[in-house]
Amino acid sequence: MAEFTMELNDEQKEVRDWLHGFAADVIRPAAAEWDEREETPWPVIQEAAKVGIYSLDFYAQQYFDATGLGIPMAMEELFWGDAGIALSIVGTGLAAVGVLANGTEEQIGTWIPQMYGDVNDVKVAAFCSSEPDAGSDVASMRTRAVYDEAKDEWVINGTKTWATNGGIANVHVVVAVVDPELGSKGHASFIIPPDTPGLSQGQKFQKHGIRASHTAEVVLDDVRVPGSCLLGGKEKLDERLARAREKARKGGERVKNAAMATFEASRPAVGAMAVGTARAAYEVALDYAMTREQFGRPIIDNQGVAFQLADMRTQIDAARLLVWRASWMGVNGKPFTAAEGSMSKLFASETAKKVTAQAIQILGGNGYTREYPVERMHRDAAIYTIFEGTSEIQRLVIARTLSGMPIR
Ligand SMILES: Cc1cc2nc3c(=O)[nH]c(=O)nc-3n(C[C@H](O)[C@H](O)[C@H](O)COP(=O)(O)OP(=O)(O)OC[C@H]3O[C@@H](n4cnc5c(N)ncnc54)[C@H](O)[C@@H]3O)c2cc1C
Repeated sequence: MAEFTMELNDEQKEVRDWLHGFAADVIRPAAAEWDEREETPWPVIQEAAKVGIYSLDFYAQQYFDATGLGIPMAMEELFWGDAGIALSIVGTGLAAVGVLANGTEEQIGTWIPQMYGDVNDVKVAAFCSSEPDAGSDVASMRTRAVYDEAKDEWVINGTKTWATNGGIANVHVVVAVVDPELGSKGHASFIIPPDTPGLSQGQKFQKHGIRASHTAEVVLDDVRVPGSCLLGGKEKLDERLARAREKARKGGERVKNAAMATFEASRPAVGAMAVGTARAAYEVALDYAMTREQFGRPIIDNQGVAFQLADMRTQIDAARLLVWRASWMGVNGKPFTAAEGSMSKLFASETAKKVTAQAIQILGGNGYTREYPVERMHRDAAIYTIFEGTSEIQRLVIARTLSGMPIR
């Protein structure tokens, strides 16, 4: 086992500085424009593809960094640039991870390249789980997938909502119910290939923040996909369902929820996004506090302002440490016995909301205008306590993990 260190290695520092350069030179200058336009920033995604940031290779390289710090470091730097644009760049990764986690080698090889497209024709992908009546309560999902044995096809019907890149994606990954008796254990994931009839975009949402990221409903009306689009394949699904039915029949047996373990490993990445936004706002506020003069001295000379900055920085660093711990645990297969992944997401997302609000206060009237970026950062930060499980759901998961009570 490697010697304990709190320092990034040389290779990580190099990647971090490279990403920071892209965030500072390409993402940050474009942030205000795409926030106003409320459109997917295709030219910025293309720039990211050109330098290799928008690619499966880059994502996989960070994902397999044995220290676990590759992904959080990348997220922090990109989201430091701008949350809406960064989500447009990494949103495809959510769908790609869904395929990497559950797909066969053939499915990974076929579909992931189509999610990214190529430098001259970039594409995006969407992961569609949430529904109008199934947000936090994933088990109440209604989108139904029925197997048509004669044609070896799945027929999918339902409405998904809040899908990042929904409707504009080349490839959609859709979670649907295959056995309604089994609750969340009766769900399966499907690839919906490009231009499949029956899939359409519903409402595109106008949002409070991360406005450069496209969020929309996805309507599935008698969507037919080949049997090969079921992630993991039919045999594996049948085995999994048989096991779940057997456990349900025996009743009362506590089943380890594999989906929960996956969330514990993926939530630190969202925590890292929040750290990036919080750090960005803190840096603007620190700079402003040192240069803005009132009563004949920089405002940071007032303890009331200086202490706020001290608290902001302390909380950001604490959030990053929780994120790094959970990411390290995930990569090294450590059991999340205290829901450390959820802890990191909870603390980092609440920190981002608080710190960005404090940044507005420190900038006074300027903080409240679009002349300065902190009001956008504050609007953006609000998403972190909502998606990938709200703060209340994180607390519920942590509490139930600590108490040993089952998590549905
Ligand atoms: C911009 C954006 C992008 C998104 N991207 C995606 C995506 O790409 N794919 C996808 O599938 N989904 C996506 N989501 C959906 C997101 O994950 C859900 O919004 C989130 O899980 C919450 O669900 P909900 O909005 O239905 O809120 P609800 O579940 O209705 O919750 C409403 C409120 O009730 C609280 N609450 C609910 N249950 C409990 C409880 N048991 N105890 C205490 N409080 C509770 C919640 O914490 C919340 O405060 C996205 C959402 C947004 C806003």
